[in-house]
Amino acid sequence: MLANLLDHDLEGLAAFCERLGEKRFRATQLFRWIHQKGASNFDDMTDLARPLREKLRGVAQVQPLAVNTEQRSADGTIKWLFDVGGGDAVEAVFIPESDRGTLCISSQAGCAVGCRFCSTGHQGFSRNLSTGEIVAQLWYAEHFLRRHLQRDERVITNVVMMGMGEPLQNYAALVPALRVMLDDHAYGLSRRRVTVSTSGVVPMMERLARDCPVALAVSLHAPNDSLRDNLVPLNRKYPLHELLQTCVAYLDHAPRDFVTFEYCMIDGVNDTPEHARELVELVRTAGPRSNWCKFNLIPFNPFPASGLEGSSAARIAAFARILVDAGLVTTTRKTRGDDIDAACGQLAGDVRDRTRVAGRIARQRTITLKPVTTFATEHEKDD
Ligand code: SAH
Ligand code: SF4
Repeated sequence: MLANLLDHDLEGLAAFCERLGEKRFRATQLFRWIHQKGASNFDDMTDLARPLREKLRGVAQVQPLAVNTEQRSADGTIKWLFDVGGGDAVEAVFIPESDRGTLCISSQAGCAVGCRFCSTGHQGFSRNLSTGEIVAQLWYAEHFLRRHLQRDERVITNVVMMGMGEPLQNYAALVPALRVMLDDHAYGLSRRRVTVSTSGVVPMMERLARDCPVALAVSLHAPNDSLRDNLVPLNRKYPLHELLQTCVAYLDHAPRDFVTFEYCMIDGVNDTPEHARELVELVRTAGPRSNWCKFNLIPFNPFPASGLEGSSAARIAAFARILVDAGLVTTTRKTRGDDIDAACGQLAGDVRDRTRVAGRIARQRTITLKPVTTFATEHEKDD
């Protein structure tokens, strides 16, 4: 079988070249052709000696992912569904903004964490993606967009690991992929422009701090353990006090001086003023200073199987106000790509569930989490 060169960071590619009896600097040339120029055909790599190109053809390839579908939203968002074989497909989303271009990519086919409010979670888990499959999403999107927009310079300025899967449950493949994103001979993104989002895999957060400390986003979604146990089942293994301690420790390595908390606003479940006040107390007690974290409120993006609804704009505003008044920097995420189901938590791909996660969530849905509507001000009713 031919080796997939997308599987390697520069160090890995150098080792590969050495095994072929080639000098290490050849790896840099090869790496630049693949990632900076988007080349996949060795014959196009004109500054590599012909015998080397022939040698490479016999043992290696740049293996892209097949694109099943491409959908374009009216707001410019593009979603690709990539075939990863074996009946599985994963999604990546490009989100253009005036000052940046963000690519959201997947780390697994499905996800084993099984969060109640997440479409990927509802699908269950099939398998980890390889480094090459993670990198191939960026490789394809960047070079597709350059051709499409007729641009020579970089189009994708930010990468977020917020597609399908829990990146820190696929650590071994993730770290080399992050190194490719950061490498000046490849995509050259700064550590603050690459974000790993995690539901809170504590031991791997500690390792990421040492191995490759990119920007960290933590999916919090609840201010106490009993609610979080239900929404994010991983909380039963790594409860809030441990999770927050690990976030604070990450600050010593983080590319910026804060950690981002994502908080998905679900109607009647986690969005009351009491929840907001409890959240303020939680992060105030855990953190070393008031501005050690930022909040990103995500309007819940509904999907039919969830049985949940998103909070109203007024309720989100009231929640945000409590956090802001307590001195916490808080933003509310705009939902993009609504017309093509490309928003957070709507990426379902097409996954063969090899676990019982999907069934567990379906059962849990009927028992634990009926939304309790407890709070509505006059103002909200008008909204
Ligand atoms: N597994 C990682 C990264 C992928 S999910 C994690 O959980 O952090 C990316 C973000 O989308 C997470 O914050 C997740 O909680 C959020 N999300 C999941 N389902 C959602 C939904 N239906 N509506 C809004 N956000 C959702
Ligand atoms: Fe997995 Fe993240 Fe979805 Fe939870 S929110 S099921 S961790 S992808």
